[in-house]
Amino acid sequence: MPAPAATAPPSPLQRVFGFAGLAAQPVRAMIEVTHRCHLSCSHCYLHDHHRWDSRPDELSTAELLSLVEQLHAAGCLFLSFTGGEVFLRPDLWTVLTRARELGLAISLLTTGTLLSPRLVTRLAELQPWRVELSLYSLDPQVHDGITQRAGSHRRTRLALDRLRAAGIPVLIKCPVMAANFESYEGLRDLAAELGVPFVADLTLTPRHDGALEPTQQRLSQEQIVRFYARSELRRFGTAAPELPRADAPICAIGRRSCLIGPYGDVYACGSLRTPVGNVRQQPFASIWRDSPLLTRLRGLTAGDLTHCSGCEKFGYCNRCAALALDEHGELLGPSAWACRVAAAKEQASGLVPTPSAAQRQGWPSAGTAARECCGGGACASADSTPAEHHPCGCGD
Ligand code: SF4
Ligand code: SF4
Repeated sequence: MPAPAATAPPSPLQRVFGFAGLAAQPVRAMIEVTHRCHLSCSHCYLHDHHRWDSRPDELSTAELLSLVEQLHAAGCLFLSFTGGEVFLRPDLWTVLTRARELGLAISLLTTGTLLSPRLVTRLAELQPWRVELSLYSLDPQVHDGITQRAGSHRRTRLALDRLRAAGIPVLIKCPVMAANFESYEGLRDLAAELGVPFVADLTLTPRHDGALEPTQQRLSQEQIVRFYARSELRRFGTAAPELPRADAPICAIGRRSCLIGPYGDVYACGSLRTPVGNVRQQPFASIWRDSPLLTRLRGLTAGDLTHCSGCEKFGYCNRCAALALDEHGELLGPSAWACRVAAAKEQASGLVPTPSAAQRQGWPSAGTAARECCGGGACASADSTPAEHHPCGCGD
């Protein structure tokens, strides 16, 4: 039997997130400043992004400033700004500046296509935690085919070079789908050459209006196995079922991060699109503390899962409750996508056992989440794990 793959101990930052989860402390938040975007990515989960003009119903500058201050007061340390395309809001700079004045670590999720040299210089002065650039391939035709905008690849590559030259930490994010499966690895090599982190993510979620087009671009089962057969990924899973404690939280939902949409709705994570409150009607702290739905979501445990807690593939699975809800209308049921990925991981791993997450030195032992998050947006860990970071990016 091959030697067990090495499992890295949690970083200090991951430990901070672990303890924050236990204390239900919102250490990380993500603000969608707009849903508008000038690209038209085929896998995008937004359904209302096809307009560039300003929207009067978006949070105003004053509302965004108030929100940043409320998040800071609630204990937020890491604040991400996403869209849509964040740089379509000219007042973003005012908001970023205030966040930095408060000492928040800020990150921006962007295509980079609107970043002129002048704006990069301005951004460098704010010393962001990092900029996450969406890049789909080294091949311009493949990238522009996905964004459905000619020239977008060139502009994002330019942004990558400009940001690095300005000393701004960059992360390359790449959703992997049928259209770029044969070329995405070039990005991994580019990232290694440049010394920047790279996150490849297989999870494509339905649109927020329920349309399934993005999910139709998911990889085939054979491609998912090929993805996880890469030697550096075999550590993602365990042959031995790692069954959760019945009282372990189902995931990070509502425990340490949240997302606030452009119209003020607050979400328990980046993927579950059922608002738990709205900051136009109620202060953030009151929503985080008192929302009945958020309290219920935060309290869900592995014992509430209808099928998964006894699943033999549990050790390979990164089940996402929001995806299960989208797919089957059942938050606590299995997710067909997670089942496919877990089966592929098992097949790819060659049944190489790895130490269980529960045994990793340094994790909080009591109440550790049953699953590490799928890796999508707002809930994503600030120092993400290559290839396990997902769309919600639940970047937790
Ligand atoms: S994105 Fe999925 S796994 Fe992550 S917190 Fe939300 S529901 Fe849980
Ligand atoms: S989502 Fe599927 S693979 Fe994952 S634990 Fe549940 S039944 Fe098992």
